[in-house]
Amino acid sequence: MHRSTRPLHGLIRLVFAGCVALYAAVSVLMLGSPNGPSGAGPVAYVVFVLVLQIAAIVWLLVGPLPDRKWQVVVFLVFGDVGLASVILLDVPTSALIGTFLFALTGAMCTFFLGPKLLVAHLVFANLVIVYIGVAAYVQGLWGPWDAIAAVLVAGGASSGVPIFAQIAWSLVCEDARQSEIDPLTRLKNRRGLQNAIDDLWTVARGEQLAFGLVLVDIDRFKSVNDRYGHDQGDAVIVLVAERLCGHFEKLGVVGRTGGEEFVAVLVGEADQLCELVLEVSATLTDRSDPIPVTVSAGAVVIAPDSDAWQGSNVINDATRAADSLMYRAKADGGNRTRLETM
Ligand code: GH3
Ligand code: MG
Ligand code: MG
Repeated sequence: MHRSTRPLHGLIRLVFAGCVALYAAVSVLMLGSPNGPSGAGPVAYVVFVLVLQIAAIVWLLVGPLPDRKWQVVVFLVFGDVGLASVILLDVPTSALIGTFLFALTGAMCTFFLGPKLLVAHLVFANLVIVYIGVAAYVQGLWGPWDAIAAVLVAGGASSGVPIFAQIAWSLVCEDARQSEIDPLTRLKNRRGLQNAIDDLWTVARGEQLAFGLVLVDIDRFKSVNDRYGHDQGDAVIVLVAERLCGHFEKLGVVGRTGGEEFVAVLVGEADQLCELVLEVSATLTDRSDPIPVTVSAGAVVIAPDSDAWQGSNVINDATRAADSLMYRAKADGGNRTRLETM
């Protein structure tokens, strides 16, 4: 589920359930229609689908929202196959009207699943629509021109809506992604990091792992700018960012939170985190660089059984502690790391 949709979960439940209710309404109307399923087998099948649809509505309204991709894929397959199998029991001319509901499952692909599964859905939906057009022609219900026109209208409408939605949604998602990235280093910016912290925090709590927060600041960076110019200064920032990322990427994420300041957020075994943090200074410093720089780091590692987890705002506490440790490292002459376990 998209992070930005969290406040909208109530609305999403209603829309999702409303869509399934439409599918269920089709099943009910089919059962009532004289052109609908006849014979015990087809009627029993539509009743079976209807029961599943009602169960899905209840689940969507009161159960946990599907938050794994495979769960939404099950919904998609259920929606597409269920709809197709039910409407194909009706006469083709009525069935074609039912295919407009494919626009709903298409919109679901756009929102929750992405372009690849949308394409799979569109292929399926359009095959069903073409099949219905051919059946109407073969059964003499439509002439060739009517059948082609009907297929084009139904296919165009049920495909066009989700395709346009997919294009717009992809642009919005790309904008959102870019708004979390620092353009110089391609690391996460403050906003992106905050989101990553929320996620990693949940992982640490859920899996009983230690949580680490590391603040890294390049020493006397102003003099790099003064001596070599701003562009060279930028190159130094990029190099430090790359090394930081390489150093910490296995256990967390790194963001650039200010000009020459970085934050790493880590999750893992406490010993492992401490070891990695204490190596950071050596990893970032290379005397043979064209512009050698050193860094100071302040780090806090919160063990899984720490009392610190009980605090009302642990992240803030950890950030403040790491910040003051970093300034102590600077005050001691820089080029060092101060680590505290909580
Ligand atoms: P300290 O050892 O106490 O950390 O000193 P410092 O010079 O590293 O820190 P200070 O905060 O005094 O200066 C940071 C400098 O970083 C000032 C600013 O011009 C420079 N800076 C900030 N953002 C950028 C940037 O994107 N590119 C470049 N080249 N310089 C930047
Ligand atoms: Mg600095
Ligand atoms: Mg600074």
